[in-house]
Amino acid sequence: MTESTLFELSSPGRTGVTFPDPDVPRAKLPESMLRAELPLPELAEVDVIRHYMHLSRYNYSVDGGFYPLGSCTMKYNPKINEDTARLPGFAFTHPLQPIETAQGALALMYELQEWLKEISGFAAVTLQPAAGAHGELTGVLIMRAWHKSRGDDNRVKMLIPDSAHGTNPASSGMIGLDVVQIPSDNRGNVDLAALKAACDETVAGLMLTNPNTLGLFDEHVEEVVRIVHDCGGLVYGDGANLNALLGILRPADVGIDVMHFNLHKTFSTPHGGGGPGSGPVGVAAHLAEFLPAPLIGILEEGEEDLPPLYGYVTPKQTIGRVKAFHGHFGMLVRTYTYIAMHGADGLRQVAEYSVLNANYLLARLRNTYHVPYDRICMHEFVAEGKVEGSDVRALDIAKRLMDYDFHPPTNYFPLIVHEALMIEPTETENKDTLDAFADALIKIAEEAKTQPELLHEAPHKTPFGRMDEVKAARELVLCCWLPENFSK
Ligand SMILES: *Cc1c(COP(=O)(O)O)cnc(C)c1O
Repeated sequence: MTESTLFELSSPGRTGVTFPDPDVPRAKLPESMLRAELPLPELAEVDVIRHYMHLSRYNYSVDGGFYPLGSCTMKYNPKINEDTARLPGFAFTHPLQPIETAQGALALMYELQEWLKEISGFAAVTLQPAAGAHGELTGVLIMRAWHKSRGDDNRVKMLIPDSAHGTNPASSGMIGLDVVQIPSDNRGNVDLAALKAACDETVAGLMLTNPNTLGLFDEHVEEVVRIVHDCGGLVYGDGANLNALLGILRPADVGIDVMHFNLHKTFSTPHGGGGPGSGPVGVAAHLAEFLPAPLIGILEEGEEDLPPLYGYVTPKQTIGRVKAFHGHFGMLVRTYTYIAMHGADGLRQVAEYSVLNANYLLARLRNTYHVPYDRICMHEFVAEGKVEGSDVRALDIAKRLMDYDFHPPTNYFPLIVHEALMIEPTETENKDTLDAFADALIKIAEEAKTQPELLHEAPHKTPFGRMDEVKAARELVLCCWLPENFSK
């Protein structure tokens, strides 16, 4: 199947823009500014709209269907978040405005810092990082700054469980720490004996995801934290799975020292296709002075009923700025709205229903697909994409699900489960959807035995069939069409 590009649809003389009458005298553009060789397609507005509408129908989206992409928390994004983010006072505020003219935006950011502190139990929060991975980098920089401030320059190792997301070793590696992998035990927890053996005075800390990427709550989390603290290390919490804990457990209460939030996962700001995300970082009191600057603070208390004056404050031993201006402000407005709409009880229900939905699916599927670490799960679980008596793989099952109009689960992650299918339904799905998804997966397991080629060649219903992923990676072509007279 091929697609027309805007260049191919172009016809000389068509135009989609109308300039207003100039209110200054007309003048010729200098020749040097005219670029005759720059090819631009010529089309009417309606042609452009139809072209992009047509392409957009190829996209699968959370507004279009069930999206159980494990670890990504593809929950429904309430549309009221979009309304508030588009309020002119928020949407058109410039980050360089004098603070007196941006008090509404600053008040929202200040309150959001406070709310995230309350939800997580941390003493202070920065809203700057652009996404979870950036929050991790910020967090490990803070950990290193803390060790250095104590004259402890020997902490060169970061311990990371084998179930961790790839961003954990990447963040630690980026600042030059040596990554030491810690195995999981047979119940999917951090292996305590291996952790103890790895802990010494060269350890900067541990990066812990809890619930972990198997969707399991670490049964010894307090002991894990104690072992790391006992050898002088800090514990980084990867907060990507906070959805399962909202209103139930505050990560700081089990001794986590620093953690990122993924606002685009837990707090429903839209994501996919590259962002923008938002990855605020919370820290316990002993790390508060190292946070990136500036934070949003109260500069002067308001008199009587007047609101305070909000502005920027710089922590004393700050690691510096990690992002231009103040983070992805539009995502902060959406998160603020989401938290305000749910309230404390509502957030707790989010966690409860996300866990209930995952356990319901697990119960319906565990007799069809083997679940290697099979115990009560949190907000997601990991099954093996294999069917006895068939040669199908997780990839075949995932692609076949597209023929049933479902987005596939996450495949081949976490690495410790062979042929992993990582399923995260989220709390926003009803029982009918969960049942339809379970029915499809059970039917696919039948097909795997009777008509395996149906799976090997899937998807059949999508506009494009099975991609050659190896070729796509090795011979990546990003620009598919250039006009013949185009000179680079
Ligand atoms: C999503 C995720 C991250 C990275 O977060 P981004 O916001 O995508 O950068 C880290 N760890 C886990 C477990 C995740 O699921």
